[in-house]
Amino acid sequence: MRRFYLFLPLLCALSVPCKAQDFYNDTIRTVTATEEQPREHLAIDTIPSSDKYVKIVLYDDYTWEYIDEGHPVIDTAGFYEGWDPDMIHAFRGEPLSALPDSIDLLLADESHGYCAPYLAKVHSGFKFRGRRPHYGVDLPLSVGDTIRAAFDGIVRYAGTPKETGGYGNLIVIRHDNGLETYYGHLSERLVEVDEMVKAGECIGLGGSTGRSTGPHLHFETRYHGKPFDPQRVFDFENGVVRDTIFTLQKHYFNIHSHYGQTDKESKSASGNVYYKVKKGDNLGKIAKRYGTTVGALCRLNKIKSTSTLRIGQRLLVRKGTS
Ligand SMILES: [Zn+2]
Repeated sequence: MRRFYLFLPLLCALSVPCKAQDFYNDTIRTVTATEEQPREHLAIDTIPSSDKYVKIVLYDDYTWEYIDEGHPVIDTAGFYEGWDPDMIHAFRGEPLSALPDSIDLLLADESHGYCAPYLAKVHSGFKFRGRRPHYGVDLPLSVGDTIRAAFDGIVRYAGTPKETGGYGNLIVIRHDNGLETYYGHLSERLVEVDEMVKAGECIGLGGSTGRSTGPHLHFETRYHGKPFDPQRVFDFENGVVRDTIFTLQKHYFNIHSHYGQTDKESKSASGNVYYKVKKGDNLGKIAKRYGTTVGALCRLNKIKSTSTLRIGQRLLVRKGTS
């Protein structure tokens, strides 16, 4: 550890707020390095440096030293796979069949911290909501509340996507455990693309931008661009991970598979969507409502386009993904 002596006027100058970089520029030229000596003095202040993992500690004998808090260990092998800062979802076009049936992901240990992005009771979960799949959890909040990074990682996307409507102001972080986390509807972003973040670091402020009916955080967990229920990872009310090692099963990517189901239930969730025929319905109307065609509905239900629909009849309108 290098130790430096400061001149008194410089120390006074340090008591006024200044950016870490200014601190370097103003002082580095005038300090004198000395031999390592046993520490006998009290720390009086801690100042950030240009590296957020390194702090400068000032002692009451006008000396200072760098304290390296330890950079997160990021295994870069495969870390940047499918990386595209212009694309909202990574690994675009990769089929589900390319993934293993099950994979163990490290969520936390002594050197890998974690943090629930926001503490709240889940308002709306991972499921089909009306006609639209909801690929995350909604956590109600007040505009301006602090949103934190779930794990150490690097910001892959920061912006307001136009082509993937709904997210509003969005941050996507790639983590060294292979997961990506999404933070949507933010009122403000506090990190940039390619910025390294630590678990628990404030990355943005809660808001209601995009397709949102009130202030909340839309939080997603994805692996290879594919979403699964974030409640499998976090207990959002208590701010803890369910386990330090998470076994991600392929069938978790089914929108009908969510936390709290037994694995058997989760696997058997077919994902099929049915519609109950009402008075005044016809195949054309139903097809339009579900964004499909009369021909596709007929094939799914093994009926003819001229078939008469009965009120109360169950029609398969979308086939599940599993
Ligand atoms: Zn949402």
